[in-house]
Amino acid sequence: MKLTDLNPSGGIGANSLLIEVGPFRFVIDSGLHPKLAGNEAMPKFSLVERKSLDFIVLTHCHLDHLGSLPVLSRENPDTPILATQATRAIARRMLSNSVAVMKRQRGELNLPEYPLYNREDVSILKDRFQLLDIEKPFAIEKDGETLEVTLHHAGHGVGAASCSASRNGQTIFFTGDVLFNDQRILKGAKPPLNPVDILVMETTRGLTARAPEKQREAEIVRVLEDIRKTIKRGGSVLIPVFALGRMQEMLVVLEEARHRGAIPPAPVFCSGLGMDLVNYFHEISKQSHEVNFSRKVLKSLGVRPVARRIEPGREPNQPGIYLVSSGMLVENTPSYALASGLLGSDRNTIIFVGYCDPDTPGGKLLTKQNGQDFTFEAIDYITPVRARIRQYDLSGHADREELLALAKKLEPKTIFLHHGDPKARDWFREALADSPSHVIDPEPLKQYEA
Ligand SMILES: [Zn+2]
Ligand SMILES: [Zn+2]
Repeated sequence: MKLTDLNPSGGIGANSLLIEVGPFRFVIDSGLHPKLAGNEAMPKFSLVERKSLDFIVLTHCHLDHLGSLPVLSRENPDTPILATQATRAIARRMLSNSVAVMKRQRGELNLPEYPLYNREDVSILKDRFQLLDIEKPFAIEKDGETLEVTLHHAGHGVGAASCSASRNGQTIFFTGDVLFNDQRILKGAKPPLNPVDILVMETTRGLTARAPEKQREAEIVRVLEDIRKTIKRGGSVLIPVFALGRMQEMLVVLEEARHRGAIPPAPVFCSGLGMDLVNYFHEISKQSHEVNFSRKVLKSLGVRPVARRIEPGREPNQPGIYLVSSGMLVENTPSYALASGLLGSDRNTIIFVGYCDPDTPGGKLLTKQNGQDFTFEAIDYITPVRARIRQYDLSGHADREELLALAKKLEPKTIFLHHGDPKARDWFREALADSPSHVIDPEPLKQYEA
């Protein structure tokens, strides 16, 4: 097998892997780098000869896996895209949102190449999907040979899948982004546990040890306690979240808490894309054993859309719980604008429930002490930090010890490290040093053979 990581900057970015096994050539995921813009954010597709791919696997719909799929598919129009039914449904909604964002950024960031694809490119994808059921092998034939591809429930998000591919008794397993814990709306991953030859493993949490007291449910209790206190003193709570996944999970957490009186009634506001995805999750839930979600949550919480125009630096007219994207307070998003209005008052609380990259406004805010100034560069606004800033660990990724245990169980001859920053990969390399597997931390754009 030959493997090339097409993500030019390494780490977690424009996730995309080119795999060659015998006569078969395929790509797993086709992302965009979340911190870069324009052509720079793209995987290096010049290494993939046009019209050369037998298939593309899309593991899930986060943009670091999905964001450049219309480009790769435009260059390989006859290539089927293998994915779960849920992933196909969500992909379309996420990509049309991306087109709108890129059109806006074209002028704002002076990027003449934007949008990288248009609505037509997105809508044409619909017919290129080949839907796979979880655990049902799909055979691809070429030159008298067969490759069998199977998707496995990954627990990372609705529709998310791990993937295995077998040929002539040799099996490769790609974890993709994976979470073993159950979430409120989604069951945990069920990877295959038979030995494999090659394991391509995500390493996101290589640098994050989980303290015993920080188990998911205990963290949720703390989030709710912060919300309760904030509402009691008449303040607002901002919970910056990804629109896909974490927002819907938090809606269910809030509904349960309100139902048993753990938080007082207060209006809940959400942003548009996340509310739209509620409807997708509702439909998917009807057909899936792994997903448990109903759109009734919006009604029972009385969720309202957040105002289209949020005046920077002004507290919202109505105190409440603001469950809005982006999760890292990225510029020009509702969470960024709301934070600017809430930060200056000690009545309010900002609760991060996931990872914040240190280079994002959210990451920078987390380094500030109470009373220090914080600058919202994009809107030229400075305010002292008076609101309470909290961070809890409700990650969508498996703990590093769980991944090590999986690696031991699968007894692979070779392990490729993937989807992790360099230091996170270092931790895995060291932790696996005395395992019988050969561990490879691939350099970007270089071909490896295993
Ligand atoms: Zn993901
Ligand atoms: Zn990812």
